[in-house]
Amino acid sequence: MSKSSAYAAFSATSPLAPHVIDRRDPGPTDVAIAIEHCGVCHSDLHTVRSEWGAATYPCVPGHEIVGRVTAVGGTVQRFKVGDLVAVGCMVDSCQRCPSCLEGLEQLCEVKTIWTYGAPDRHLGGSTYGGYSAAIVVDEAFVLRVPASLDPAGTAPLLCAGITTWSPLRRAHVAAGSRVGIVGLGGLGHMGVKLAHALGAEVTLFTTSAAKADDAKRLGADEVVLSSDAAQMKHAANHLDFIIDTVSAAHDLGPYLNCLRRNGVMTLVGLPEHDNPGFKAGLLTSKRRSLTGSSIGGIAETQEMLDFCGEKGIVADIESIAINQVNTAYERMLRGDVKYRFVIDMATI
Ligand code: NAP
Ligand code: ZN
Repeated sequence: MSKSSAYAAFSATSPLAPHVIDRRDPGPTDVAIAIEHCGVCHSDLHTVRSEWGAATYPCVPGHEIVGRVTAVGGTVQRFKVGDLVAVGCMVDSCQRCPSCLEGLEQLCEVKTIWTYGAPDRHLGGSTYGGYSAAIVVDEAFVLRVPASLDPAGTAPLLCAGITTWSPLRRAHVAAGSRVGIVGLGGLGHMGVKLAHALGAEVTLFTTSAAKADDAKRLGADEVVLSSDAAQMKHAANHLDFIIDTVSAAHDLGPYLNCLRRNGVMTLVGLPEHDNPGFKAGLLTSKRRSLTGSSIGGIAETQEMLDFCGEKGIVADIESIAINQVNTAYERMLRGDVKYRFVIDMATI
């Protein structure tokens, strides 16, 4: 076992503060990683503030991890010391259930072990995430980072990237598809970039008029200010597919109304409070569907990273020191981030 510097929340109301955690010695299938960058996801904030139910404290968040391999277990073939690698939202699953066998480890029918806040079967207690200097992960949950990509900008691909990539792929988005993205935050800006790169015509729905120019630069063809009824009316019955990334409770009805016949809206945002209800006729009148999606499997995450490597896609980030993370949370809540904070772990 070794000690690792980390930042942890000790209660739902206390700011994150320095902490020291244990990391296991690498077992035969493990990869030990010195973390260089870790993205700040809105899920980190929901979790440490117990917005999704009581969290386990101390809580070390962080699931957008990029770092260098410092040691590998005896049977590890795919990684060697010095490789640039990545870890996303999960570090273990049963690997035997139908979902795992289909490459859907995030939907493991026994238990997906999330990168933080899940039972740690090696050391007991809770798993600790990427707001830390080092992590040890089974090689089955370690990803390769394409050499062409900026490591800091790559970190958000591990959650924001895969969470938008997976539903876009499942919807067979390609040239000619009309895609809507709701919310221009960490997930939303990756959704815009990836849908654009897949050839779709992209409409971005935002509550922030000031983000319109950025949205176009990121790949949106149209920007709709969702608070403007006339703009929403103009966008009605137009889109094949919408991804809703909004982090706070909101009315889904106006967005459903923008789907054309047989259109599908997928929720990925996970607000603390329930979204209000909507009229069933919004679905029946055009045979529209409302679905949900959770990150993506490991093979699919590697596919997304390789696609981003080919296309030169990374997140637009603001690099921060780890002692700025509490301020970053407040700024994220105000929508004041372009478009993902990434912690430079050299500052720990
Ligand atoms: P974020 O960077 O804070 O972005 C959220 C965006 O939602 C904001 O930038 C804002 O965009 C919009 N928004 C915020 N409050 C709103 C409101 N009251 N009404 C309408 N729009 C509002 O957050 P994120 O990291 O992208 O995460 C987004 C959500 O996805 C979070 O709930 C997170 O937990 C969840 N998530 C889910 C998965 C999954 O697997 N399903 C994975 C990762 C994250 P505009 O300023 O453009 O309106
Ligand atoms: Zn996340």
